[in-house]
Amino acid sequence: MHFFRFKKNQLYCEEQSVEAIAQKVATPFYLYSQKTIVENFGRIDRAFSGLDHLICYALKANSNEALLSLLAECGAGADVVSRGELFLAIKSGFDPKKIVYAGVGKRDDEIKFALEKNILAFNVESTEELGVINGIAGGLKKKAPVAIRINPNIDIHGHPYISTGKSADKFGIELPVARATIHDLGQYSNIQLIGLHCHLGSQITEIAPYLRAVKILRDLADEVRLAGHTLLYVDIGGGLGVSYQNVFDDLEAVSDTPIDLAQLVQRLRPDFQSLGCKVIFEPGRALVAEAGILVTRVLYQKVSQGKRFVIVDAAMNDLIRPSLYGAYHEIVPVLKRGGEWVHADVVGPICESGDFLGRDRRLPELARGDLLAIMTAGAYGFVLSSNYNARPRPAEILVDGSGYRLIRPAGQVDTLWT
Ligand code: PLP
Repeated sequence: MHFFRFKKNQLYCEEQSVEAIAQKVATPFYLYSQKTIVENFGRIDRAFSGLDHLICYALKANSNEALLSLLAECGAGADVVSRGELFLAIKSGFDPKKIVYAGVGKRDDEIKFALEKNILAFNVESTEELGVINGIAGGLKKKAPVAIRINPNIDIHGHPYISTGKSADKFGIELPVARATIHDLGQYSNIQLIGLHCHLGSQITEIAPYLRAVKILRDLADEVRLAGHTLLYVDIGGGLGVSYQNVFDDLEAVSDTPIDLAQLVQRLRPDFQSLGCKVIFEPGRALVAEAGILVTRVLYQKVSQGKRFVIVDAAMNDLIRPSLYGAYHEIVPVLKRGGEWVHADVVGPICESGDFLGRDRRLPELARGDLLAIMTAGAYGFVLSSNYNARPRPAEILVDGSGYRLIRPAGQVDTLWT
């Protein structure tokens, strides 16, 4: 669900005309809807109502401080994967006791920092990491709270780059090793096992992988208890997919995610209840993807070998998902005019043929200076941006009702090297 609408053929973000903002702010820029984020959080949180639960926002999806503060105010916890993300989460108001720390390559200084900040737990991804955390915690005279991240070998049938739960992926500990570790924790005197974790991947559009994962976690939870540990939480990861297509259809739909989360949780409720501990869910994309668009202007157009190119001022350095994953983002004109619609590739100015935002898109006749909106760009958009071709990063703007504010200025050419 989102709050981008066409009113009299003009694109609005909540009560703000996108064109009016583009008159004041140089393109390209990211534009976010606060209401969309708050409503999405509420929808996800409500799906778990009646269960002891915590929604930990995965900062990697979008770590702009304004959005983080907003989600912290909503009551979210945080899922972080680096010292930087942990720092940002705490600075933006997340309670450290609601922060879980995953990632296959936590450095010693990162582990120390997290122990000093008293986070909820490390989601541990290898037995070697467990040993290192144990050693660092001992040096600090602390007990490190940990959850074992299992690799359940489940296929989400998605893009291989964002699958994380198959045994060939680098994430988590394979089940037989996880089991042995749970029974063998006595050797780690500075470790306290309090949780189980798994994250299958991103942009999951089927319920079956979640059902399988929860069954595995449920069975393992019994083993954890039998081995004498007090289980405080089971973390089922994030990964809930969103609809990147038909963004303006079905506007009355309560949920725009391909999975009906409320129904999924309802189905899993008996399992969750029998766990007898907190359930953590770690959505990133599902909270912020639909809340953001990338606004860009048409620079030039040309036809080559019968193919039309619309060259815009945004590029793969601003939004890399199409180039990196072949991801689809709907592209719409900010002002809809009449006239004939044509098929065109929407491409950026970067010197690579892989620099495209959309291929073979149906668009109206456009002119130099026209504005286009790349939809559903709030997750894995700005955070994956770069300065490639020495292009400064785009600004970020947050709309709240009929007002808006700059939440990150555009990068500047003269600070590109600092
Ligand atoms: N949790 C972990 C451990 C992750 O690695 C990720 C993404 O890669 C997420 C949560 C969030 O995934 P998504 O944005 O698809 O919800």
